Amino acid sequence: MLAACVAMAFFASWISPGRRLNDMPFDWMAQPSTPSASEAVVVAIDDDTLGSQGGMHEIRSILAAVIDKVNAAGPAVVVDDVLLADETPDHEGNAKLEDALRGTRNLILPCDLVLRDGTVAWELPLPRFAQFAVALGHVHRDQTDDANRYAPLREVAQGGERWALAVEAYQAAHHLMRTLDPDEVQMGDRAIPAPDPARLMWIRYAARAIPVIPANRIDQNRDALRGKAVFVGVTAVGAGRDRPLTPLGEIYGVTLHGYIYDTIAQGPFFKPVRNDVELFVCIALAAAAGFIFQFRSGWQAYALAVLVLALAVWTPFEFFRFNRIFPFFEPVGVAWLSIAFAATFQHFFVRRQLSKSESERTRYQQALHWAAHEMRTPLTAIQGSSEIMTRYQLPEAKRHELSAMINSESKRLARMIQTFLDVERLADGQMEMKREPFAAAELAETCLKRAEPIAERKKTRLFLDNPVDGTITGDRELMEYALYNLLTNAIKYSPPGTEVHVSGVFNAGELRLSVHDQGIGMDEKELKNIFKKFYRTKRAEASGEKGTGIGLSIVEQIVTHHGGRMEVTSEPGRGSCFTMIVAAAVPAATSTRNAETFDRRR
Ligand code: ADP
Repeated sequence: MLAACVAMAFFASWISPGRRLNDMPFDWMAQPSTPSASEAVVVAIDDDTLGSQGGMHEIRSILAAVIDKVNAAGPAVVVDDVLLADETPDHEGNAKLEDALRGTRNLILPCDLVLRDGTVAWELPLPRFAQFAVALGHVHRDQTDDANRYAPLREVAQGGERWALAVEAYQAAHHLMRTLDPDEVQMGDRAIPAPDPARLMWIRYAARAIPVIPANRIDQNRDALRGKAVFVGVTAVGAGRDRPLTPLGEIYGVTLHGYIYDTIAQGPFFKPVRNDVELFVCIALAAAAGFIFQFRSGWQAYALAVLVLALAVWTPFEFFRFNRIFPFFEPVGVAWLSIAFAATFQHFFVRRQLSKSESERTRYQQALHWAAHEMRTPLTAIQGSSEIMTRYQLPEAKRHELSAMINSESKRLARMIQTFLDVERLADGQMEMKREPFAAAELAETCLKRAEPIAERKKTRLFLDNPVDGTITGDRELMEYALYNLLTNAIKYSPPGTEVHVSGVFNAGELRLSVHDQGIGMDEKELKNIFKKFYRTKRAEASGEKGTGIGLSIVEQIVTHHGGRMEVTSEPGRGSCFTMIVAAAVPAATSTRNAETFDRRR
């Protein structure tokens, strides 16, 4: 179940709400802490600049003027974020821009991916501008990431691969070469964890804010640009909205490049935890939930569960502190599910245990009652007889009779105790039933003989209808108890002057031993309940016959333990027929041992 919880949480983390939750700790901790000291600075061609200088029609001359001013401040690298791929009729502006770019040291120009004739291709700056750039960097963003948490450092399209604007800028600013290995992009002392092929790098928004300087205030901010990587872009609302969403909220498109640059420049880099580490943590959480509810219950278990849950929530944040990206949804999902499942399981398990022990207790009590009740009769007889013997001078014959009675009653008592214990152990599954062959005929005869005195007292007549045949394999004592019980019931619940018939029919390996009476009978509803412990019919109560309502339940247990079953037919006022159906063998046809028993019987 716990494994299923882990699987379920992982599965849920792949679908949208789970994925969104996964980014929570990252977004939560992405607020910049120190405002400046960034290596990247944004120069924004904002609404004011654009408005005062003729709008987007004049963008190339405006850009030229801005770049000139930026150059005057002495930046390390100038990165243009304005695409220069289209021919425009603005000859004067284009010429000005050409001049400005010519005079720029370390110029990086942008390129983007476009769909051309069904294939993805590069849209490059016009050659007249591109010739002055030390590199072209792409400005593409990862479409699957809703908040630009990571940047694709490399993009491949028709015409080759291009590296991100910020990567090219960093290389140019620091005069570095780029080396690649499958997991990292290395530039000087920077080793960026960005595995092949996607080369995604997590952006560190939390480090510091990227300063944004309006283009018409460059002169006042020259110091802020000196030696920096200056990203020039349009932020004016009128110039098409480029407002990518980030954990910080919406920012300018050009600022996003600043963040990528700053991440590369300052590190340290975020690295997603390895899948196996993540799986291990999740399994540990699930196991913890399991252990808690296995060994603790009540408030202790719940307190510990809350602790596990807190641990699950804390885990991604803790990893984050060490620059490791740990998904949020998986651990928390696993913890929740596992705790819920473990707690539910424990609840039902405990309840089941409780009701089992409850029913065991009542069953035991009932059995004890029954035993006490059954023992009273022989005990009274023994007590009475012994008292008479000690109190009175009795003739020898009478003494003899009484002591014989004491003897037989105490034997009966011993037998009863034995039966009681046997049945108890049988019900508990503690006892292996005896398995020995015995003749069914002998069983019937013994029971009839034993019941004779009771029948006489009740003025009922007993009949053995046909010679009972077959050998039963099982516990002779218990079977005798069962049949005798059926017989005494038949006598007990029949009015004087009626008959009780015992018959045995052997058929296809089965022996049907029936006790048929002409007594008070039972209706359908009563028939359904008579094998329940302590159930007595109203009719039986009204008949004035004493009883405990336990005998039949024991009979049924005994018969089922012998692999057999009970059948009862009855009609109120017209008598009942109880049939024990057990497996039996024809003596002569089976073994010599069975044959011996058979002979002895005869
Ligand atoms: P007890 O006889 O001590 O009440 P049993 O378990 O032997 O307990 O029987 C359960 C109930 O089934 C009896 O109380 C009686 O109502 C009904 N019953 C059993 N045998 C007969 C029978 N032969 N005829 C009518 N009712 C019977």
